[in-house]
Amino acid sequence: MGKQVAIRGQRPQGLPRASQTYAEGRMCAYPGCKTRLSTYNRREKCWTHAEMKVPRLRGRKPAAGSA
Ligand SMILES: [Zn+2]
Repeated sequence: MGKQVAIRGQRPQGLPRASQTYAEGRMCAYPGCKTRLSTYNRREKCWTHAEMKVPRLRGRKPAAGSA
């Protein structure tokens, strides 16, 4: 007595796996930066100048006047 219900695998349609590449020999858009971008890099800037805003916490002051 074994009734097996076949589970239908649903495969999502329309996901072309074509690796998109970008223009070759592009350079970082940052002024003065001559880093060449990878054809797989979809950004306009190199990783250094890409929009990764790192908050600069320099000289973090300890809470003053704590007793
Ligand atoms: Zn750069």
